[in-house]
Amino acid sequence: PLKETDGVVENQITVCVRKRPLNAREKNRNEVDVVTVPTKNQMVVHEPKHKVDLTKYLDNQHFRFDYVFDESCSNETVYRFTAQPLVKTIFEGGMATCFAYGQTGAGKTHTMGGEFKGKQQNFKNGIYALVAADVFKFLCQPPHCDKNLVVSASFFEIYGKIAYDLLAKKQRLRVLEDGKQVVQVVGLTERTVNKVDDIMDFIKKGSLERTWEQTSANANSSRSHAVFQIILRRANTRQLEGKFSLIDLAGNERGADNSKSNKQTRIEGADINKSLLALKECIRALGKKGKHCPFRESILTKILRDSFIGEKSRTCMIALISPSVGSVDHTLNTLRYADRVK
Ligand code: ADP
Ligand code: MG
Repeated sequence: PLKETDGVVENQITVCVRKRPLNAREKNRNEVDVVTVPTKNQMVVHEPKHKVDLTKYLDNQHFRFDYVFDESCSNETVYRFTAQPLVKTIFEGGMATCFAYGQTGAGKTHTMGGEFKGKQQNFKNGIYALVAADVFKFLCQPPHCDKNLVVSASFFEIYGKIAYDLLAKKQRLRVLEDGKQVVQVVGLTERTVNKVDDIMDFIKKGSLERTWEQTSANANSSRSHAVFQIILRRANTRQLEGKFSLIDLAGNERGADNSKSNKQTRIEGADINKSLLALKECIRALGKKGKHCPFRESILTKILRDSFIGEKSRTCMIALISPSVGSVDHTLNTLRYADRVK
């Protein structure tokens, strides 16, 4: 397995997988852990042959990624190999993007927003906050301290075909494309921040705004993409220097349970599927001349268009999986998707 001291590889696209431990509910049901991590690049899924006799397995399914994190890895370790190498990109005039992808309950929000202790979330060790801390560290180091840069943050959610501002009481936002293919989220709050604590406030506020929905009847955060952005601008001209987008994607399980769901859920599932498929194609097109990026296929990819173009753009996907036998179909779907991103 991966060690904290292992070297970090500099890629334009990095794809990794993180396995969470079995949770209390899964242990109570005596669910088996069917995922092993033989090396820091490999993951093996032992697919059960019988739904009843779980001791009989089909052939093991092997996958290889840039990094594989087992259940012993902390958020800090995951960060060091995924988003951290991308921080310098935004100081060099580039765009950085980091996605958390996977089934609901697999650990996307735990990784991006911070580790949960019961219902409480420790926002300090989420990837949002770890990136923010490093951005401020970079800002006061030469040569960046001379550039006169300001940091700002925005946080919004995409639910269906609509974006909602998580820093402005869920105000509905319009996504418009001008004649020059520049996409704008009209009215999106962009808060200037002077220190890490300021940004922590917005991470907490926005995250709570999002989680709160989980308890209301008609919306659920697992059906929305959350986009947290750290933006660097020149202080005098407000010209964009770089942007780091951190995205907690909607659960990818919607497509699989079509038969069980009602019409509304099916429509949402279709929307989510469409955006995740477009996302895969857009990432694949990154850095490849002549490959089409179908960014108009979804609001998510439209909004991230400027992150998919330009030679200086870098991206990282963290696929999250549950180890339990009950999730094996979703786990294989997630791994196959991640496998095809690069
Ligand atoms: P998702 O956002 O993908 O739906 P969550 O991040 O909310 O999933 O995680 C679901 C539950 O699993 C949470 O209680 C979370 O604390 C726990 N969990 C997720 N990943 C880990 C991990 N690596 N270690 C320990 N617990 C985890
Ligand atoms: Mg979540």
